[in-house]
Amino acid sequence: MALQARTVKYENGLGNVTYTKYPQSRSFRVIVSSKGEVKVTLPVYASYHDAEKFLFSVGGKILARRQEILKRLEAQAQAGAPSDYQTNKLAHKILPQRTRQMYEMMTQKVTIRNRLGLVVKDPFRYNRVAIKNNSSNWGSCSTLRNINLNMNLVKLPPELMDYVIAHELCHLVYPNHSQRFHALLNAITDGKEKALAARLKRIKL
Ligand SMILES: [Zn+2]
Repeated sequence: MALQARTVKYENGLGNVTYTKYPQSRSFRVIVSSKGEVKVTLPVYASYHDAEKFLFSVGGKILARRQEILKRLEAQAQAGAPSDYQTNKLAHKILPQRTRQMYEMMTQKVTIRNRLGLVVKDPFRYNRVAIKNNSSNWGSCSTLRNINLNMNLVKLPPELMDYVIAHELCHLVYPNHSQRFHALLNAITDGKEKALAARLKRIKL
């Protein structure tokens, strides 16, 4: 979890740079996201000033990387790749509906029992589906039983989109990655959990 973040706008071609302090961070790190955003992570005890100095020391390389990404994005836009606006619109149309279908399929398919062996009623029930546009995850869920799905799921092969939705719905039963969680997800995906997870891992978000 990020403790603190701040954004600084640079006029030297680096654009808006986000500095984020992470408890698990041990050194300065600079990345350029797939959207061309420069992100610096730093240890909690480090100063933003030192992080900036570090960024400037590798600035040339970062600038070149950013320009390369921005150029590619522009070429994609000109080639007619779907814009974020279009993807978002499609995601709102498809993802809530598909989540409902997956919910119904999963509810039919498996019976969940609690520790006393009693059948859990409506184990996959959820409140709402929110569509997100981030580059940190394909999906997540909250203790309030809300599901967040990344809009870019609609660009994936349908079986991978379904896999992510099933993964999040299974978290409503087991809010962890325990053996029982994986056994459930594997049952839902007809024994293909590992294969699907491996395929998804190879796709860059
Ligand atoms: Zn998970």
